[in-house]
Amino acid sequence: MKIIKNYINGKIVSYSKKTIPVFDPSKGEIQSEVIMSNTEDFKNAIEASKKAFENWSEITPLKRSRILSNYKNIIEKNVEELAQLVSSEHGKTLEDAKGSVIRGLEVVEFACGIPHLLKGEYSQNVGSAIDSWSIRQPLGITAGITPFNFPAMVPMWMYPISIACGNTFILKPSEKNPSCSLKLAELFSDAGLPDGVLNILNGDKEIVDLILNSKEVSSISFVGSTPVAKYIYETSAKNGKRVQALGGAKNHLVVMPDANIDQAVDGIMGAAYGSAGERCMAVSVAVAVGDVADKLVNEINNKAQTLKVAPWTDPDAEMGPVISKEHKAKIEKYIEDGVKEGATLRLDGRNLKIQGYEGGNFLGPTLFDNVSQDMTIYKEEIFGPVLSVVRAKNYDEALNLVNNHTFGNGSSIYTSDGEVSRHFTTNCKIGMVGINVPIPVPMAFHSFGGWKQSLFGDHSMHGIEGVRFFTKLKTVTSRWPKSIQKGPEFKMPTN
Ligand code: NAD
Repeated sequence: MKIIKNYINGKIVSYSKKTIPVFDPSKGEIQSEVIMSNTEDFKNAIEASKKAFENWSEITPLKRSRILSNYKNIIEKNVEELAQLVSSEHGKTLEDAKGSVIRGLEVVEFACGIPHLLKGEYSQNVGSAIDSWSIRQPLGITAGITPFNFPAMVPMWMYPISIACGNTFILKPSEKNPSCSLKLAELFSDAGLPDGVLNILNGDKEIVDLILNSKEVSSISFVGSTPVAKYIYETSAKNGKRVQALGGAKNHLVVMPDANIDQAVDGIMGAAYGSAGERCMAVSVAVAVGDVADKLVNEINNKAQTLKVAPWTDPDAEMGPVISKEHKAKIEKYIEDGVKEGATLRLDGRNLKIQGYEGGNFLGPTLFDNVSQDMTIYKEEIFGPVLSVVRAKNYDEALNLVNNHTFGNGSSIYTSDGEVSRHFTTNCKIGMVGINVPIPVPMAFHSFGGWKQSLFGDHSMHGIEGVRFFTKLKTVTSRWPKSIQKGPEFKMPTN
């Protein structure tokens, strides 16, 4: 059985002998084992990161940018292999996995501009013959803890920017699909990254707690479920660390009566069922406004029945399995709750069997109509291929639904009315908003992050927010000795 270890100081190593299985979600079988790192592994990673920081933080941003540029070229040559690693451990289709690797690659491209991004502000004559400027300095050892659903993209939201800023980075990937991170780290070494700048520590809560409680680690970037995000935020803040912790989601897509229904249906299909609904930006609630509901529900229902659910090795697959047997059972329980609480189950994805993959974690697309705010399937994040349709009388009712939900990651509106879309953009309490766009994931040069229970902390990921998160601001005020003419001053200087 293959054992997936850590990547520390440029080497595949581990002290711990404890492992847990890594499954193939398409078959439900164990395909490898991953190390659960212990204190020795942690110390090793900290030593390597600390040592590497001394030189890496001194290297010019331009030189760091050139290594990132090599890395970009190397990733481009390895997209297929990286995507296969993602699909084989996550289960998502190969094309979807490739897309996710490329969305991560775009952050590397963004980080190549680091000499420009680190430029500070300068003011001449803030006082008589006094100049002032700001510089951004690296934090030191930074760390990231990432979820199973994007094993390439989410880590790449973090470490390329942190490293470009002059930090070193310890990544704790999801124990459910750890292989892609190791490959990404090896490729970074091939691009010329010095040993110890990027280290991968595999494991679970035990290693996460060592990271959160370490005095050596300056910042924590987290992406995962809301209860864990909250725990990470509180523990990191208590330990004096900078922290950005992105949590779960329940994203609404509002369809107005004047929307292009064909576009809305296509948008909802991809956003609800793509990646088996295991995306934090998946649309899990469609809000049908006014008389649009019957047509919308019927068309989604028709299309969803033609969706091809298959393992990632099938080139025609449009949706793969969910991550684990436990997660499949949890989603099935939500479907049961939806029925019990009175929602209309239009399409039931349970009991789907795929020949040759009977042990796989497959679920078909599921569609509920007449869902209301008090139902469990509306209130909680399901993280599976289950779409709830809520019927709203008018736009105000739809906006209230979006704003009253505890999550605030993403939301979209489909309409041909500019005034309504502008009102929605301005007034929805949501971090990422789409106008006739189903999944409004910001590009690398913008920033990714939600509101409410979807983000704890002050900074979103990547873009200029990422650069600010991974650097400390210093402001310098300077006067040259010859210009000093006065004696001591005991009052606040003013201009
Ligand atoms: P998870 O919270 O179970 O795990 C995330 C990471 O935290 C993993 O590395 C895991 O090992 C670690 N972890 C788990 N429990 C822990 C604990 N008690 N203490 C310390 N560490 C712990 O999330 P997941 O199931 O891997 O991912 C799915 C979740 O992530 C969904 O809720 C989804 O919405 C969310 N997500 C959010 C975003 C976003 O940008 N907001 C993006 C992707 C995924």
